[in-house]
Amino acid sequence: MYICPHCNKPGIGYVRKIFIGLRFPATCKACGRKVHNNGLKAMLATLPIPVSWVVTEFFLDKSLFEWLLGIGVITMVLLTSFWVPLEKESKY
Ligand SMILES: [Zn+2]
Repeated sequence: MYICPHCNKPGIGYVRKIFIGLRFPATCKACGRKVHNNGLKAMLATLPIPVSWVVTEFFLDKSLFEWLLGIGVITMVLLTSFWVPLEKESKY
């Protein structure tokens, strides 16, 4: 579990963190307060997906799109898991 920025205890599940959005904050299992991913970094973490499309559309054989898209999705999940920090939801 990830450490909650409110209570500094493990309260956010690994899978839940990937699906946290600014409009859909997660609830800490330890303290019950809301947390979300850093908005800018969460947005940047999605870039491997459009990049995989652009690379196969303009630079590589289109039959490689599914492979590159898969790599893009895995990269997005890894970036969201390990690079995007959790932040306190200020109104809770
Ligand atoms: Zn907490």
